[in-house]
Amino acid sequence: MSPRPRTRRVLSVASECAPLIKTGGLADVVGALPAALEPLGWHTRVLLPGYPGVLAQLAEAGTALRRVWATEDLFGGPATVRRGVYRTTGGAHGELDLMVLDAPHLFDRPGGPYSVDGHDHHDNHVRFAALSWVGARLAVEGTADRWRPDLVHAHDWQAGLVPSYLKYAGSDVPTVVTVHNIAFQGIFGPDQLDRLKLPTWDFHPEALEYHGLVSTLKAGMVHASRVTTVSPSYATELATPEFGFGLEGVAAMRLDRGEMTGILNGIDTAAWDPATDPAVTPFSASSPAGKDANREALLAEFGLDPAGDRPGPLAVVVTRLTHQKGVDLLCDALPGFLEAGGTVAVLGSGDPGYEYALGELAARYPGAMGVWIGYDEPLSHRMYAGGDLVLVPSRFEPCGLTQLYGQHYGALPVVAATGGLRDTVTDATPENLAAGTATGFSFGDVRLGGAIDAGGLGFALGRAADLYRDADAWGRLRRTAMTTPVDWGTSASRYADLFGELVG
Ligand code: ADP
Repeated sequence: MSPRPRTRRVLSVASECAPLIKTGGLADVVGALPAALEPLGWHTRVLLPGYPGVLAQLAEAGTALRRVWATEDLFGGPATVRRGVYRTTGGAHGELDLMVLDAPHLFDRPGGPYSVDGHDHHDNHVRFAALSWVGARLAVEGTADRWRPDLVHAHDWQAGLVPSYLKYAGSDVPTVVTVHNIAFQGIFGPDQLDRLKLPTWDFHPEALEYHGLVSTLKAGMVHASRVTTVSPSYATELATPEFGFGLEGVAAMRLDRGEMTGILNGIDTAAWDPATDPAVTPFSASSPAGKDANREALLAEFGLDPAGDRPGPLAVVVTRLTHQKGVDLLCDALPGFLEAGGTVAVLGSGDPGYEYALGELAARYPGAMGVWIGYDEPLSHRMYAGGDLVLVPSRFEPCGLTQLYGQHYGALPVVAATGGLRDTVTDATPENLAAGTATGFSFGDVRLGGAIDAGGLGFALGRAADLYRDADAWGRLRRTAMTTPVDWGTSASRYADLFGELVG
């Protein structure tokens, strides 16, 4: 019998990790991948900033943290890395092997990970360069508990400098940079290079420089052994001026060389299972009855008319309220849907203009539309469980997770045909319905002459409302959506294959 290959080690460096700290899909991915990679022979430690909320949750959970690395001066103050295995209550995410970067001068402050009261922290470039620098040091030096990664997986601009710091240290530890959203690029002025231990000799367009400034995401995309992004469609879109946000040249170069791929995100089906989710009344594809109770409860929670009063579907929206997410398209398209008997519940926060516009719309349609401004994880679960539809009219979408949660919880997605939305939702055309492959509704496919606009969204909503009237057809569509695999299975294998290729 051949010996079992030893488990290999990956250091995942990220600014968010569910369930401890989350502002979007990045956290879900960072939190879910370790459990998916473990059976494939990869053990992950996640390096995460020691935000006060994270430290408090670890203390509350009784997670023992042991110091494994320290420095007297991390860009202006002392820093310690402490390691512990966090077990989530309820066992949803299972275990996370964490290394927390405790650097009070950078992370011990009020607000979210990036901002306070709507304003970015003024030193975000320092805070996340520090995270990246420590990630690189851990890979080079190893930790006091004798752990050294075989590979570093760096996420988004916040960890984008890890490959550069490794290069400057002369390290050959392989790196993978994953682009979760190319619109956020970690840009700052070259006067900061010295302060952040970045060499001026590498400040040129083939490395750190981006139009006279520094971009940490660009640096990562240039210096990483490989680049991945979170869906195959987004990988090819990134190489175009329309979607590349100025980094299309780097993306095209790495794509042409076969060094950039799109690996679709999955969802953590342990944490997100309508049959066991503690936030909802249980239901499943084979016994969907519980979904009605969730629907009723959601209508009541939003102060909406009870089921029976309005004939159309209940559409939910769970999103950051930004231009990317097409909130203006929603505001234009929803009146038609509401007037035709549909109901809408929105959970989101973001741009104050969109918050106001949605509030105005809800005031125009009392009983038919409700809006909850804020960020509320358990409520998001109740929304997917109660909704008939989840609306995702994004102008661009690297992967998108809300449509996956929607499918899995029987809230059929209505999506713009872009990026990962295109890759994950099979439109309810007559052919796809007949073949039993449809999982939702899509609009605006440019390849079919469409455009992502309010007209397209309105038309898709109309198609969904029509089909909703046919209870049998709706039930079949919902069953297909709920049983279509959206877990990490295939995608985790693709990461493991890529990691294995790099480590040899
Ligand atoms: P992005 O990362 O661009 O915001 P994704 O669709 O990839 O978009 O992931 C969004 C994640 O954040 C999902 O898990 C979604 O449920 C969650 N989310 C977004 N807005 C809220 C909110 N206001 N309250 C709770 N969860 C939210």
